[in-house]
Amino acid sequence: MSIIAANTALSQALHTALPQLMEHERMGEAEIRSRIDSGTLALLANPRHEGVTPTLIGQPARVKVNANIGTSPVSSDGAGELDKLRVAETAGADAVMDLSTAGDLDAIRLRMIKATALPLGTVPLYGLAQQCTDAGRDPAGWEASELLAEVAKQAEQGVDFMTLHCGLTRRGAELAQDGSREMGIVSRGGAILARWMRRTGQENPLLTHYDELLEICRVHNVVISLGDGLRPGAGSDAGDPAQWEEVLTLGVLARRAWAAGVQVMIEGPGHVPLHLVQAQIQGIKRATFGAPLYVLGPLVTDAAAGRDHLAGAIGGALAAQYGADFLCYLTPAEHLCLPDARDVHEGVLASRIAAQAAEASLGRPWAMERERTISSARNRLDWSAMAGTALDPCLVRQRSAGIEHGKECGMCGKFCAIRMVEPER
Ligand code: SF4
Repeated sequence: MSIIAANTALSQALHTALPQLMEHERMGEAEIRSRIDSGTLALLANPRHEGVTPTLIGQPARVKVNANIGTSPVSSDGAGELDKLRVAETAGADAVMDLSTAGDLDAIRLRMIKATALPLGTVPLYGLAQQCTDAGRDPAGWEASELLAEVAKQAEQGVDFMTLHCGLTRRGAELAQDGSREMGIVSRGGAILARWMRRTGQENPLLTHYDELLEICRVHNVVISLGDGLRPGAGSDAGDPAQWEEVLTLGVLARRAWAAGVQVMIEGPGHVPLHLVQAQIQGIKRATFGAPLYVLGPLVTDAAAGRDHLAGAIGGALAAQYGADFLCYLTPAEHLCLPDARDVHEGVLASRIAAQAAEASLGRPWAMERERTISSARNRLDWSAMAGTALDPCLVRQRSAGIEHGKECGMCGKFCAIRMVEPER
């Protein structure tokens, strides 16, 4: 049975959203349906998320951008996170993830789901670990049944996609901690699971209970974002055995999900030196049968702390050029502190620039149109049109305030090259 036929919630969401999806993605109905059925395209839309904008992730849809927000034990201001949600929307994010780990997580999540039409993702392990620590237990002191219950609860609340690190095996965790890596395990979810496996001596419950997870996700059309718990956290760790051990498992799990009528995405690196980005992206895509690829960055240098959004945008542009579908932003706060609203804005814009650059290089019509339109406006010294076409119109309006239409800006003044060669001068 095809994925759409096996997944009633997906089938209904798709039926309703098809006209807008076809227009937005410039794809025909048959192509959208066949690509969802082949697993190379995933539709984010949990029917329990009222008013959600159904969003396609994968080839050949538009490259999408995700913004991570959420409280931390250092800062647990739920209202502040809602402000960041609005900033992410305004800046042009296509999806948000609530990665809260402090405060009333259910209340924060439900408020976000209600407040946004953007598809919302979570990492259910975080809620579980927080419940344990609040109760004075070990963050990995939960039972497998509690994890399944957390996933089911969040699916019913309307979460559209969930990071589940189902491919992290005991063998993979051992490989990542055998001393050969610079950074060991850097994923929070991956670290919690590795701790759980060490504590219990058992295999990853997300793997051993995978069929039960699939059934929950099928019923609610939750897209599983198969997490990369062993992603490289240093450029020198990229492409090591631990990373590939997990990637190969994710490919197997993707096929099991599709056979069960469940949509998946694959999460990717992480820290990857510039010269390895192409091999990483193409290798992961091949090993996971063309499933939509959701990358964190990748960060092409470990040395950009304070401006990691720029390191991530460089990697994101290259990654999208080679087939990545969904860019998770990085902000200037990465590796340092919880991002504030300004960081969220800068992070989303950096990833949108990466997506635009990649899509222009691929000749995607919407990206080419934007390039042509702004170039033409620039040549006409049409400041209003430039602002209207730029990825950050507010910034352009702010910086060009006071410049008259048809007049040069303050950069070259009377030596404006465009005016210099006008026939009438
Ligand atoms: S002044 Fe210089 S930067 Fe400004 S519009 Fe003219 S050529 Fe471009």
